[in-house]
Amino acid sequence: MKPVIGLVSRRVSFTHQQRPYPRYGVAISYSDALIAAGAAPIILPLTEDLGLLSTYYGMLDGLVLAGGQDIHPLHYGEEPHRSLDQVDPLRDITELDLCRRALRDDLPIFGICRGQQLLNVAAGGTLYQDIHSQAGEDRIRHFQDFTQEWPSHSILVEEGSRLRAATDSSKVLINSYHHQAVKELAQGFKVTARAPDGIIEAIESTTHSYVVAVQWHPELMAERRDFNFTLFQYFVEAAQARQAAKASAGNALK
Ligand code: MN
Repeated sequence: MKPVIGLVSRRVSFTHQQRPYPRYGVAISYSDALIAAGAAPIILPLTEDLGLLSTYYGMLDGLVLAGGQDIHPLHYGEEPHRSLDQVDPLRDITELDLCRRALRDDLPIFGICRGQQLLNVAAGGTLYQDIHSQAGEDRIRHFQDFTQEWPSHSILVEEGSRLRAATDSSKVLINSYHHQAVKELAQGFKVTARAPDGIIEAIESTTHSYVVAVQWHPELMAERRDFNFTLFQYFVEAAQARQAAKASAGNALK
């Protein structure tokens, strides 16, 4: 059996013959990368129903927190800054609930872009609501207007991290699509990569089996089969180990 990976969807606006038919969706690149790495991703709808969230959570061997909108700053004790972009309160609630369950149970987590920010907030950290108006004028451009699979800036990778094992190099090039970033890092986490301007580009938990997050979009570069794809392989291996542990615990109860 392949490990089951939860991918939380987002609301997608869609109209047919001028009438709205809103949908839940996830960028195809996430499921493509997960399937290529040996996992069985499932797409979850947004909900604040705790019974439903508990049911969905019980199906998972791993959780991917994908890219998307800004996280509402009330979740980290701040009022909305004037440069706050779109938020989706229901997506915040759905993901914070699943993420906190996963952190409590040591379920493998892979956070991507918004997912890194969500993970940091779920674990008690805070964010820059807008890098350029809050983190200083001398920051580099963290948003690219060209093709997604091409890199936009470099990052410096810390030794002794999962990310460093994947990159096997202290400096790599990544894409960049964010105007928010981790500000105060949550307790129990370490920074594993920074942009040349100091902005946090990757974090990992120091207390969990496998909780890794990056600020860029490795799923859009995964077809290169470089460290971007290796990160998906590591995550899927962790989910496989989790699935095996769950199965043997189940057998022990019989
Ligand atoms: Mn960046």
